[in-house]
Amino acid sequence: MRNTRILVVGLGAMGSATLYHLARRGVPAEGIEQFELGHALGSSHGFSRIFRDIYPHPRYIELAEATIPLWQELDSLAEEKLMHFTGLLYFARPGNKDIQRTAEAMESFNRPIERPTPQEVADRYPALRLPPDTVTCFTAQAGLLNVGRCILEHLKQAQRSGATIHEQVRVHRVDISRETPLLETSAGEFCCDRLIISPGPWASELLADLSLPLRVTRQQEFYFRPKNRAPYQPGRLPVFGDMETKFYGFPDYGPGVKTADDGLGVETSPGRVDRQLDLGKRDDLQKWLEAMMPDAGFTYVEGGTCMYTNTPDRDFIIGAHPGNPNVLVAAGFSGHGFKFSTLVGKILADLASEGITDYPLDQFRPDRFE
Ligand SMILES: Cc1cc2nc3c(=O)[nH]c(=O)nc-3n(C[C@H](O)[C@H](O)[C@H](O)COP(=O)(O)OP(=O)(O)OC[C@H]3O[C@@H](n4cnc5c(N)ncnc54)[C@H](O)[C@@H]3O)c2cc1C
Repeated sequence: MRNTRILVVGLGAMGSATLYHLARRGVPAEGIEQFELGHALGSSHGFSRIFRDIYPHPRYIELAEATIPLWQELDSLAEEKLMHFTGLLYFARPGNKDIQRTAEAMESFNRPIERPTPQEVADRYPALRLPPDTVTCFTAQAGLLNVGRCILEHLKQAQRSGATIHEQVRVHRVDISRETPLLETSAGEFCCDRLIISPGPWASELLADLSLPLRVTRQQEFYFRPKNRAPYQPGRLPVFGDMETKFYGFPDYGPGVKTADDGLGVETSPGRVDRQLDLGKRDDLQKWLEAMMPDAGFTYVEGGTCMYTNTPDRDFIIGAHPGNPNVLVAAGFSGHGFKFSTLVGKILADLASEGITDYPLDQFRPDRFE
């Protein structure tokens, strides 16, 4: 049996960040991942995730702001740029309540937003043409994170600071009835003082004892390449989101302009997710893009499948397992968790190594659904 002080199970977005923050503060830690590091079978692969400070709740705004120096620190260690401040433009038809609520919330928390007219949008971003009566909300404190590279960089830096990683090792069973949790894995037994479980869409399997009300949904994203790529690059185009359709998109980064639908897809599980691309959705997204960017001459490049792990309230699950305080749980990051991952990692590292964190976690308690 392998004994270790702190063990992190699941090295996707949250687990990789946790291992990084533990290792960087000199705490002996090991991580276990069932697939290859940086694999494309969970919730955190590809080229881009939005980070944004725009949220209708002050708690999320504060947490989003707290992530920025942490991402900047990681960015400064990486050879390739991980974070691009492009700004984020939301838009909708007149009278849309969501955009109104979001703008009012940001103003009431004294956070700077702009509400450019469609003409002002076109002056700033010539590629983007919105109907003249469109209403908007823009924040400069937003952009994209290179999701795949962020995870690999967290892991690389963790290893550089002394963490051990067990790749392609599957955890079959976790026994939390003992003070020091015991794990049965495809590479034998592990025992640890503190255990952190961050299993993404596999949460209902690895945390079955908690009966968490999680719903895994299939989500897909599609890339389209413009004829002339220059006006669509980060900086020349912001990240953009349509509060009417819930469709959103990124500047040309990676294989092209990425688009996806933030509306929940069909319910599934990691074992039976259908990875065949939904070409009807792809065509809808292409039409939506072409209506806004009529000069682009888009060509479809590729698409991919990913999973959201949704909680009923869309709030995350972060905290001690109700059955054992030496086990910490991080799950249910829904469709908006990636931007927080480096901070979630710091919080879990605080809890595992110090037993306390400065960040309020009440909203995220694992036992709030009981
Ligand atoms: C299409 C799409 C778009 C998104 N867009 C955004 C966005 O723009 N902005 C944003 O902030 N968020 C976004 N999200 C959400 C965000 O990506 C997720 O909330 C986040 O990445 C989840 O990270 P995770 O660590 O919980 O899961 P994962 O990254 O999937 O990690 C879980 C890991 O645990 C491992 N694991 C599970 N079970 C075991 C086991 N038994 N043994 C060993 N290892 C195991 C898995 O293999 C996996 O590597 C998006 C998600 C999707 C799908």
